Amino acid sequence: PIQEHSTAPDPPVKVVVRIRPKTVNEKLGDPTIRKASEDSVSIGDREFSFNSVLDSTSKQEDVFDLIGVPLVKDALAGYNASILSYGQTGSGKTYTMWGPPSAMVEGQSPSTQQGIVPRIFKKLFIDIEREKDNSDDKQINYQCRCSFLEIYNGQIGDLLDPTQRNLKIKDDAKNVFYIENLTEEYVTSYDDVTQILIKGLSSRKVGATSINSKSSRSHIVFTCVIESWCKETPSSNISSSKTSRISFIDLAAMGRDKQIDAGREFERERKELKSSLSHLGHLVNILATGTQPDDLMYRDSCLTHLLQQSLGGNAKLSVICNISPDIKNYVETLSTLRFGQRVR
Ligand code: ADP
Ligand code: MG
Repeated sequence: PIQEHSTAPDPPVKVVVRIRPKTVNEKLGDPTIRKASEDSVSIGDREFSFNSVLDSTSKQEDVFDLIGVPLVKDALAGYNASILSYGQTGSGKTYTMWGPPSAMVEGQSPSTQQGIVPRIFKKLFIDIEREKDNSDDKQINYQCRCSFLEIYNGQIGDLLDPTQRNLKIKDDAKNVFYIENLTEEYVTSYDDVTQILIKGLSSRKVGATSINSKSSRSHIVFTCVIESWCKETPSSNISSSKTSRISFIDLAAMGRDKQIDAGREFERERKELKSSLSHLGHLVNILATGTQPDDLMYRDSCLTHLLQQSLGGNAKLSVICNISPDIKNYVETLSTLRFGQRVR
């Protein structure tokens, strides 16, 4: 008999759990939190399954192989693609996404710590050069531009120009939204991108009350728009063109920190944060079922509004749920696993 192989289409949303290593002061108590199989996590007597689970021995490179390599392929094929890093404060969101800034600079500190985003751009520019070399007589041109923003308390700030703190989302003539006055920088190399990343990460909101609140109260979104066009001969007209948008979102966490949560300003901030994360969860949940959410749904919060172009249509999304192995974080870990389960 003839064997028929049907290749299942990629799921619209891929959810990966990463368990970070324990620190010296942490306990692996009972009930334990552990990887139970290639795609499941057990926490006490409960078990949750995802697309993949990376345990605490996983390397930055493993995360890249799993999510970064396919993303570069999708981006060069003209798809929009995004990665969301979710989890409580201290669970490894920032480490997984960017890694230490020093590890982005070539030749400094062990680059094994490099996060998924710098690795993606390293590969992206290598692949772009390869495509150009292999294009024979055709002329392929690429143009990439980046922006880096922060959403703090429902307001958009420009991480590449920290003087711009309350940017507005506007619609253009074709009803496509854009962010007014947001800095966009053209990039042609890995070094161009890492300079922007380092600059943006260093201007991320630093909370005033607690060391703990440093850079954990804002969502940050790094976006790169890749445009390419092809000409049969240098003098001919453009024969084809592609545009893709890749976005990397390092989310703020709902904390239990009493010191952060004290006071009226923080109460408002908490509500804003809670509603933006719940809108996001709701929206991704709809996307995961393969349906398109109504345009209006994106406008429910600033975060979902500005991710509309990145998430809708035939865009690809990977969600990394970062969790701690320490049992004292049981409640937060359960909540992160539930979020991941909901958006799968
Ligand atoms: P978050 O952004 O979720 O608040 P961080 O990424 O800042 O958390 O991680 C908290 C701490 O744990 C940092 O010191 C970070 O370097 C460390 N860390 C997180 N994940 C890992 C990992 N997989 N391997 C080694 N260290 C990690
Ligand atoms: Mg962080």
